Amino acid sequence: MLLNFFVNIMAGMIAYRHRFLSKKGTFMAFVIGIIVFQMSRKSYIYLMCFFMFTVMIEHFLAKTKRDSFRTAKQVICNSLPAFLVLCVYAYVKQEKYLLIYTCLLSSSFADSIASVVGGNYAKRVYSVLSLQEVERGLSGGVSLIGTVSGACATFVMGVIYSLSNQCTNIQQIICIVVSGTIGMVFDSVLGASLQKKYKCRVCGRVTENNQQCQYCGGEKLLIHKYQFMNNNEVNLISNIILLILLICILK
Ligand SMILES: [Zn+2]
Repeated sequence: MLLNFFVNIMAGMIAYRHRFLSKKGTFMAFVIGIIVFQMSRKSYIYLMCFFMFTVMIEHFLAKTKRDSFRTAKQVICNSLPAFLVLCVYAYVKQEKYLLIYTCLLSSSFADSIASVVGGNYAKRVYSVLSLQEVERGLSGGVSLIGTVSGACATFVMGVIYSLSNQCTNIQQIICIVVSGTIGMVFDSVLGASLQKKYKCRVCGRVTENNQQCQYCGGEKLLIHKYQFMNNNEVNLISNIILLILLICILK
């Protein structure tokens, strides 16, 4: 317990120092870390691996510093479905729920790694729906290098899961890789179709915030009326859909 407290404080300090989480976001992640540890040691190890790998990859591979912190709301939207499934696992102790938890974590992991790698190194980014070239960093945009790195991340998660269970179950690794990758792609599809995007009246660039254009200072307009979600809602909904899918498939 004391060690868990100490590890969480260290992780929180690293996250905050590297602009990975906001103050409230760090506090929220700290609390989640404590509860997850109490529910299951293994699930805590997966969570910490996800966290440490993402922080490290962002630290070493991102060319520019993040311009915004992940907020407490973002932490909650990204972890709520996985957290709920872990509560079920803690109660019924069925391996299946730990696997579903890891699949959800794998999807978030893939998503984070794909955005860091794709956002910094992709030469061309395409909309996952229209396949037209879009600006880097725009939700719903996918790149080859980003998608491949995301898929690799799911494999790492699969291997960690397998190692922690001291048996190599290929089916479980495949499940974590496939569901993580599907979750990542699904997140992009939702981002492309339902997430709010704004177009600058002056230079025509498309971004996700409605503040003044960072390129020319022009005013922005909402592009489509039917696009109503923000990034947090997209993450939450795509995680919930993945969760429902996994519960239906894994019997
Ligand atoms: Zn502009």
